[in-house]
Amino acid sequence: MPGLRERIMTTAIATRQWICNVCGWIYDEVAGAADHGLAPGTRFADIPEDWYCPDCGVTKSDFAPYEP
Ligand SMILES: [Zn+2]
Repeated sequence: MPGLRERIMTTAIATRQWICNVCGWIYDEVAGAADHGLAPGTRFADIPEDWYCPDCGVTKSDFAPYEP
């Protein structure tokens, strides 16, 4: 299904918000998370692997692209 594949890739590129699968905390790349060491404009891909969700403590692997 080439159409589906293209849609997923487009979504990944356009995504600017990420949601924690466990607690629902949302990271906005534009706003950043200054209280948690992430400057405004920090891309999710650039967040250190040892960063964790400020609300529940899971790592980046438990976040998913979020479309408002
Ligand atoms: Zn969380």
